[in-house]
Amino acid sequence: MAREPNCIFCRIVAGEIPSDKLYEDSETLAFMDINPVHDGHCLVIPKAHYPTVFEVTPDAFAAAACTAAKVAAAVQTALKPDGLNLIQSNGPGAAQSVPHLHFHVLPRRMRDGLLINWGLKPGDRARIAEIAGRIRAAL
Ligand code: 5GP
Ligand code: ZN
Repeated sequence: MAREPNCIFCRIVAGEIPSDKLYEDSETLAFMDINPVHDGHCLVIPKAHYPTVFEVTPDAFAAAACTAAKVAAAVQTALKPDGLNLIQSNGPGAAQSVPHLHFHVLPRRMRDGLLINWGLKPGDRARIAEIAGRIRAAL
């Protein structure tokens, strides 16, 4: 399994750094975030080291997504937030601070004012279609 010696999350997987673990299986680990935005904010990672979605294997990503859904359901049952975001960030422009792929399981409260939300503003349909073509060409 790929491991990066200086990676905080690899060290959590190895038990070299303590964490409040929620769940683990052979491929994935879920643990509490040490800087929670709200009670219940936790993280889900593949145990193997992949920096971002651009390197992760489809199987490892799928395993982490399955665990994220499982943990999200438990957070919802245990804490009954008003909503919950699953957030997976890639690269500095997306505010990724730990370069080991992870999902945030982020419970939300009404009017909590978090800045990850945006208002709905209609886009230019021609521009949307043109950009869709550029992405399809890269698939
Ligand atoms: P990012 O900014 O990459 O989307 O999220 C990284 C998350 O990892 C942050 O929310 C941060 O609080 C959390 N984090 C950073 N270092 C540690 C640590 O040593 N232990 C735990 N449990 N979480 C950490
Ligand atoms: Zn790592």
